[in-house]
Amino acid sequence: MSMTREQIRELAEFQDEKSCAVSFYFQPSTPRNKAHKEETILIKDLAREALRRLEDKGVKDGVRADIERVVRLSGDLRSNGTHARAVFACAGHNIWREYELPATLASSQLFVDRHFHLKPLAHLMGASPLLGVVLLDRHRARIFDLRMGELIERDDLFHPLPRRGRSDGYAGYDGGHAQRRVEDEARQHFKNVAATVKDLLDKRIFEKWILGCQDAHRPLFEPQLHPYASQALIGRFRADLASVTADEIRTHAQQIVEQWQGERRRELVDLVLSQARSSQGRGVTGLRRVLRSLELGEVQTLLIGENLQGHAVECPGCGHVDAHIVSHCPVCGRVTQEIVDVGEAILPWVIRRDIETFYVKDDAEFDRVGNIAALLRFRSEKVQPISIAMADQLQRAGAEYPGRLRRFARR
Ligand SMILES: [Zn+2]
Repeated sequence: MSMTREQIRELAEFQDEKSCAVSFYFQPSTPRNKAHKEETILIKDLAREALRRLEDKGVKDGVRADIERVVRLSGDLRSNGTHARAVFACAGHNIWREYELPATLASSQLFVDRHFHLKPLAHLMGASPLLGVVLLDRHRARIFDLRMGELIERDDLFHPLPRRGRSDGYAGYDGGHAQRRVEDEARQHFKNVAATVKDLLDKRIFEKWILGCQDAHRPLFEPQLHPYASQALIGRFRADLASVTADEIRTHAQQIVEQWQGERRRELVDLVLSQARSSQGRGVTGLRRVLRSLELGEVQTLLIGENLQGHAVECPGCGHVDAHIVSHCPVCGRVTQEIVDVGEAILPWVIRRDIETFYVKDDAEFDRVGNIAALLRFRSEKVQPISIAMADQLQRAGAEYPGRLRRFARR
């Protein structure tokens, strides 16, 4: 079963005070050419390494059982090379979840921590809008959801051509009239499809969409689109609705999405860095400033370097993350814990609030500003202390401690 945003959000909420939350990502090796045996050895190595690290803290039976189960599962998974797999387990809380993912993970990985590790998922979903694919010809339209690399058919709109239009033919005395009728039918069909697309965007079933059709249909169909449906169209590919396969649709759509994401990432890095240079701008850079903006609920879009390194502590009580290595939480006073991977630790915040997230790779200028930056919705300086309305809004958005956040905001 493939994952929904709600499931990912639920995983982001979870923490195990005994630090026995197991996250396992299985990326199948390229089908057929790699020996299955190598994969099995790799997974066993990952498991041995994880158990060895746990031994310093004293291995709990539950986590050992989870890891052994992961190893057994990976033995069964190797025969199915078309999907990657994610497993989230915590025996102490009776949790075992398995999900299929598109087979595009960097590698197989195993983590044992207080939280589930979600970075490989954030790569897949952080910058992926809810996507629709619309296939079109003169009398039919097929509409698909594209979710985490899976294509799911939603609608098949069929407007049959009038039979008369065919039989009394273009060659007859009435030919011109019949042809006009056929064109009117097609125009009406395109109009209906355009209205359906607008409706799906209005209902937030799609945020962006992709069009697949013959070149000849585009000048007839696209002018029928509502302006914001045109804006939400991120790309087109040439396809014959009657013969195109699901694999071809997926491949075209994936290419368009990757190109769109690449362009959007470049634009955003430029925008955030230039905004951060101006004092009134909506951009912030560096771990401390970005953490603060995240907790204040200001962040609209987050940019994280692939190789973000940074020291930080986390409060097991309220979840506050601090780039100052303080022994006690400045929000609630509990003893803090050191974070090894700060990029991973902030993901629960990001996922909970559905913040658009992009990973940035090999960018010298981005590296210089600390490998993390954010575009803000607004500047909090103007609204401090956080208003009751804002606290309510944060609570609705999923913040657990608006009162504490409010206190924090006044510091
Ligand atoms: Zn705290």
